[in-house]
Amino acid sequence: MRAKATVRFDVPREVVRQTQEHLRAKGRARHEGVVLWQGTFEPPLITRVIVPEQETSAIRFRVPLAERQRIARKLAGSGEMIVAQVHSHPCGAFHSPTDDEEAIPRRVGSLSLVTPDFGARHELLDGAVLFELRPGGGWHEVPLELLRLSGLRDASHD
Ligand SMILES: [Zn+2]
Repeated sequence: MRAKATVRFDVPREVVRQTQEHLRAKGRARHEGVVLWQGTFEPPLITRVIVPEQETSAIRFRVPLAERQRIARKLAGSGEMIVAQVHSHPCGAFHSPTDDEEAIPRRVGSLSLVTPDFGARHELLDGAVLFELRPGGGWHEVPLELLRLSGLRDASHD
């Protein structure tokens, strides 16, 4: 089945850099890590990285409720919101049942990117998987092409 053409989010180089920096720092301790991407849905744009306070281990991460509330308050009225969550896994990238249940973005159309190998790969999207929150609350895998990283060649055929 082919996903229908949809919006693509531009991801600035600096956002990719800060994301990799955090995931790799956590990875050096052999912990998962998580960041949030702030931005807008219309137009589809990522503007900056939020590194939330987080409790991590080799197999999971958790952002305390108070920290999630602090971020929500900070964004309220800014015109921007949490567009995506990015987290790392020890080995393979997939969306676990815990990831489904505890994902921080809550708006339909939000994205969740999971990177393999504790984020150590050279390219952020190498081996990664991307999920989108659908109406009804389920996370569904979508093509990585929904993210357009600055500085990467556009490999789509349009
Ligand atoms: Zn996970």
